[in-house]
Amino acid sequence: MNRLTLPRPCVLVVFSFAVLGIWLSVAPASAQDPQRDALGVARVWEAEHIDYGPPALLDHARLLPRLDAAVKEGPGLYQMEKIGESLEGRSINHVWFGTGPMHVLLWSQMHGDEPTATSALLDILHILARHQADAPVQRLLQQLTIHVVPMLNPDGAERFQRRNAQGIDINRDALLLQTPEGMVLNALRNRLQPALGFNLHNQGWRTSAGKTKPASISLLAAAFDEARTETPGRLLAKRTCAVIRESVEALAPGQVARYDDEFEVRAFGDNVTKWGTPVVLIETGPYPGDAADKDLIKLNVVAILTALDALATGRVQGADAASYASLPINESNLFTVIIRNASIVPGTGIAPFTGDLALGSSRVVKPADAKGVRQAVQALRVEDLGDMRVFSTLDTVDATGLFAVANQGWKEGDVVQIADWKTFKSDRPLVVGASSDIALLRATGTGSYTVVRIVRLERPLGTS
Ligand SMILES: [Zn+2]
Repeated sequence: MNRLTLPRPCVLVVFSFAVLGIWLSVAPASAQDPQRDALGVARVWEAEHIDYGPPALLDHARLLPRLDAAVKEGPGLYQMEKIGESLEGRSINHVWFGTGPMHVLLWSQMHGDEPTATSALLDILHILARHQADAPVQRLLQQLTIHVVPMLNPDGAERFQRRNAQGIDINRDALLLQTPEGMVLNALRNRLQPALGFNLHNQGWRTSAGKTKPASISLLAAAFDEARTETPGRLLAKRTCAVIRESVEALAPGQVARYDDEFEVRAFGDNVTKWGTPVVLIETGPYPGDAADKDLIKLNVVAILTALDALATGRVQGADAASYASLPINESNLFTVIIRNASIVPGTGIAPFTGDLALGSSRVVKPADAKGVRQAVQALRVEDLGDMRVFSTLDTVDATGLFAVANQGWKEGDVVQIADWKTFKSDRPLVVGASSDIALLRATGTGSYTVVRIVRLERPLGTS
């Protein structure tokens, strides 16, 4: 995309400067109101963020001009350097700001198909630049030196895949250091010796906080040994997680979960903690609604800014690590859509049966078309069927009294004739793994049915 055609900030920008000057509390740490602060940051983000479209489409070529624009917005505030290259020669950049004694390092998109936090980091750079005269930002800059590495795995981002161009999971390369990207992160950490690290990822859309709620944000204070020994550094990471829990729950109650802190000997979070920089892992997960990606960027901005503010004010020292420990554990009990209580027509010559269709989903970037346009979609597929009552979902479709069948090119409102479902055969059978649209039909006469709803299994998120 050409720089001139970049989307503009929301129209509220100028207005928001006047009314949202205080967006984080300037009260002493003991008198702060974390919930109000979280909502204040969310309001600033809503008013001022730049809508760049779905994070999945932010590849390295699009990141660079946006990073440049963010850095230029804060002259004298931001410094940027190239700290290395990916295997395919894409730059890996380090932006830093502040003059405080406590160094904090945040890196995103170590997994190429986990892009939400990269967009959030860009938004944070814009917001801090615009508000650099505000007292809370001044406080950040005086107490902290903040280092940001957006998109550690640009080759993976290019392909929208987890691994780097060698096919290595960089997050399992902390010991062997065979990936240039892992080496770059390792070298930066060794040079900076930060007091705290933030390792920013996405998790699958099946992830639930306990049994019922989506795990929109999951946290981990990484362990550095099998015994999960608690040191002052790990305690700081746990307290930071407690701060993040409180701020995110102000916007998304019950949607924060915790990873089991089992030691993974090869992972960066665990080893960076071992090397002396305790690590907070933030994993972005599922969120309901059509604007889910935007809501998730907002949660990331709120989580990161309130955590940094709590470090700057010292409020983090009063946070209760038990609040992190009491988070529900991550489970995989969530589907994106469950079509409940349908007469399921497999379309394989098997008679219809009563049951639920459970649809999971993932973000997919389609290959560029002839004009070079790439499209991001939410791709759903049938992951389970039968009695799905024990699972929760972001969206329920009540199909009581309806037949569910792979759509045969019908539109909602069409009246179709089916002589006998038992002999009905489709070249797109409605079975586990199916990814074609599902039609819900109501019987309106002998052998006559009306299409009452088409459930789309591919939902466009945007193009670039
Ligand atoms: Zn990841």
